Parts: sequence; structure tokens; C-alpha cells
Amino acid sequence: MNKLIVLMGGQGVGKGTFAKMLASRHKYQIIETGQMLRDAAKTDTTIAEIMARGELLSFETLTRLIARTLDIHHDTILDGFPRTMSQAQWLIQNYADKFDIHVLYLDVPQEIMIRRIKKRIRDGGGRADDADMTAVMRRLDIFWNETMPAIRWLESVPGIRFSDVDVRGDVNDNFNNILTALSSQE
Ligand code: AMP
Repeated sequence: MNKLIVLMGGQGVGKGTFAKMLASRHKYQIIETGQMLRDAAKTDTTIAEIMARGELLSFETLTRLIARTLDIHHDTILDGFPRTMSQAQWLIQNYADKFDIHVLYLDVPQEIMIRRIKKRIRDGGGRADDADMTAVMRRLDIFWNETMPAIRWLESVPGIRFSDVDVRGDVNDNFNNILTALSSQE
């Protein structure tokens, strides 16, 4: 069975960076929902407005996007999905028998998330929704209230692997923790 690595964690924890670092060592398909939606937002003002507010797009939009792009013939990294309990349940119902799933919860406290978002803005890599502090706070609120219960639920699902990874350190230490988590349960 092909591998499905699900990177979960709040804003600025480095999901995109670690997805690329993993893909440089092994041929993974990366599905980054935020980037795909930012591309879609260029021609779709409804999507752009929802994202600018820091709100989530609908269950139907996301599941259609994932169903279309998730190829069971490739080892894959999911970055940005699932983000809600219903998305998590949909993923498990539809894909737990098709992939060897490993959920990595990239665990950092909120003050580090905010610090990293501010750094992302300073470094010029910031996105429109990073520059608006109200939208950032809304995204954090959604993370704790909607994504965190989904993470805790995934931790309890039998037959999939789950690791809580400390990524409070520097990027190389964090990446080593991720590699250790991935290899420890193989
Ligand atoms: P990200 O780049 O992962 O922070 O995502 C940027 C934005 O895209 C989010 O604030 C949401 O508006 C939207 N988005 C990304 N992934 C999802 C998802 N799984 N469910 C709903 N909306 C999403």
C-alpha cells in the first residue's frame, strides 16, 4: 500500500517546509490545499473573500478537490487537509483502506505560531491572509476549535498511525523529530 502522510498543525508550524523537505528525500506527491485554493482564488472572488477573512471553505469544495487529486498510486503528503472533524471522517472512510496512513501532529504553542507568521511577513514570504491580524486570529481560533478535535479524533482511530511531534526547535531538529516519528512506527 502507498503511504499517506498527513501533516497537521496550526498556522506557521512549517507544514509546507517539512512537506518539501520530505519530498526531497523520497518521491511524494504533495497536496497543499491552501496553495491550490490561493490559485483558485485568482479567478474566483467568492473563494478569495472567504480566504481573506481566514474562514474555511465548504466541506464539498475540499472533498471534491481532494478526491480529484489524491492518487492512490503515489506516496502522498497532505498539507492543510483535513481541518475539521467531518473532513477527517471523510478521509478515513474513503482512504483508510487504500493507504498506509500516518498522521503527524506538528505540535507548537500559539505564541510560536504567531511569531512564525510575523517572521513569514517580515521575510517577504507572507500571504495576503497573513498580513491581516484579524484573519490570522480567526485562523488560529478555527485551528483550536475545529482542527484540534479532528486531530484528537484521528489519534483514536484504529489502524492508522499517529505521532505527536515537537517542532518548537530549529528547522533541522524539527525535521529530525519528524523523520524519527515516521521511522519509529514502521
Ligand atoms: P493554508 O495555506 O493551509 O493556511 O490555507 C489557507 C486558507 O485556505 C485557509 O485559511 C482556508 O481559507 C483555506 N483552506 C485550506 N485548507 C482548507 C481545508 N482543509 N478546509 C477548508 N478551507 C481550507
